[in-house]
Amino acid sequence: VRRDWGADESLGRHTDGSLIWPAAFEPVVSIVLHHTHGRNDDADPARTIREIHRFHTLDRGWGDIGYNFLIDESGAIYEGRSSAPECGAFVGENAAGWGVVGAHAKSMNRGSVGIGLLGTFTDRRPTAAAVDAVRDLVAWQVTRHGIEVTAADAIRGHGDVADTSCPGWGVREILDGLRHEVAEIVGR
Ligand SMILES: [Zn+2]
Repeated sequence: VRRDWGADESLGRHTDGSLIWPAAFEPVVSIVLHHTHGRNDDADPARTIREIHRFHTLDRGWGDIGYNFLIDESGAIYEGRSSAPECGAFVGENAAGWGVVGAHAKSMNRGSVGIGLLGTFTDRRPTAAAVDAVRDLVAWQVTRHGIEVTAADAIRGHGDVADTSCPGWGVREILDGLRHEVAEIVGR
C-alpha cells in the first residue's frame, strides 16, 4: 500500500479534494519493466519514491505516480499508481479485477502493468533480491490475470515498446531468464 512509502495523498487532489487523475481500469494483458533512472545503493527508497511521486504528480502534471509498482534493491515491492476512488480485492485493481491504468509507456499504458526498478541499470544489473522480487511480482500478475507468458508481447522492457534506453542494459539482461522462470512457476 502507498502508506509504505509515505505517500502524500493530498498531492494528487484539487483544492476541493477531488482527484486530479481518477483511476481508469483495463483487463491486464502484459507487463512492462522500467528502471527509474535514479540513484543506486539507495539508503532511503521510500524517500526516492516520494520524490518520483511528486515529480510525476506535480512537475509532469499527471496527478499521480506513473508506475503501477516499484521495487527497491532489497526486493521490497511497493504500490504505485493508486486505484482510488475504487478499491478491489488486490492492490491496483477494481472490484472486477481489472488493473488501474498507469503512465509509464505512452501508447502501451492501457492493459499493461508498469514495474519500476529503483535505480539506474545502464551498466549494472539489479540486485539478486530485486530480480527475485520482479519474478515473484510478475508471476503473481501473470497468474492473477491469466496472461499468456510465452506470448512475445507478454513481458517486455520499456525499450521494446518505445524509443528509449529504459530499462537499461542490466534489466534487459534479465528479461529472458525472467520469462523462463515465470513460465516454470505458473506452469505454462
Ligand atoms: Zn521506462
